[in-house]
Amino acid sequence: MAPSKSSIKNLTALDSAAFDCGVCECPLKPPIFQCEVGHMVCSECKEKMAAAKTCHVCRRTLAGGYKRCYGAEHIVECLKVPCPNKANGCSAKIARYAQSAHLQVCQYRPYQCPAEGCTFADRHLSALKNHLKNTHKWPSTKVYDGTSNLALVDGFNVIIPCPGSRPQPTDIWRSFGPSVYHMLILKVTRESYGRVVTPVHIRARDAKECRLKLAYETPCGTHRLEYAFNVPSTDVSASGGGGLSSPDDRFDFVVPKSVQPLDMDTIKVAFSCWYL
Ligand SMILES: [Zn+2]
Ligand SMILES: [Zn+2]
Ligand SMILES: [Zn+2]
Ligand SMILES: [Zn+2]
Repeated sequence: MAPSKSSIKNLTALDSAAFDCGVCECPLKPPIFQCEVGHMVCSECKEKMAAAKTCHVCRRTLAGGYKRCYGAEHIVECLKVPCPNKANGCSAKIARYAQSAHLQVCQYRPYQCPAEGCTFADRHLSALKNHLKNTHKWPSTKVYDGTSNLALVDGFNVIIPCPGSRPQPTDIWRSFGPSVYHMLILKVTRESYGRVVTPVHIRARDAKECRLKLAYETPCGTHRLEYAFNVPSTDVSASGGGGLSSPDDRFDFVVPKSVQPLDMDTIKVAFSCWYL
């Protein structure tokens, strides 16, 4: 008897594991291949197994290799599962094999806390901001258009760029709202020669690169050293904690100890940023 429409609808994610590649266990995506009794493999594994000349499961000789399995291809195209971010509002239904690609770009994916080993995640950047402040005690500073003078502590400093100029005490009618669109994390590491500032830009969904300018003055105040550089967005959505571990292409800003001695608790830097 043909399965009714509702029984297909109720096929769970667990059942649909039957549509994983028998070798690499990834969700099968077209083109799909099978041995003569129906053991399925993905196209990459089929290429890798070509020399074996026997099926990966039943060890039957593969006369002419694995054969294309159009029926299974049709099923995996139709077998759509809800996005794991459904509870956050994503209504996308995706073929299982396309799920990991969708999760990379899903507008509803949560921001994962970048602190090593922390599992906190929330779809609002403002919630992550509060979490970093309350749970990890990372100091957070709002910055406005123009240059801000920051005192950075060792470890992590959270910088929240706000649109517009710094509100004046008389600006009581100005509402900035609770939204946080961007977040920069300046990681300060103490080295024998001074302190190293490593910036990380945490993207808000579709934000692009951030241009950052950091500067310090020499003790006599006569010289100013300024560096400007682009900070690519770091996606902490899917990193699963430890998201700030360093890619090699990250730019570091060094404040030498001759300029700001190591016995000072903080380093003072002039900061400005804008989005490209
Ligand atoms: Zn495979
Ligand atoms: Zn087989
Ligand atoms: Zn989604
Ligand atoms: Zn955390």
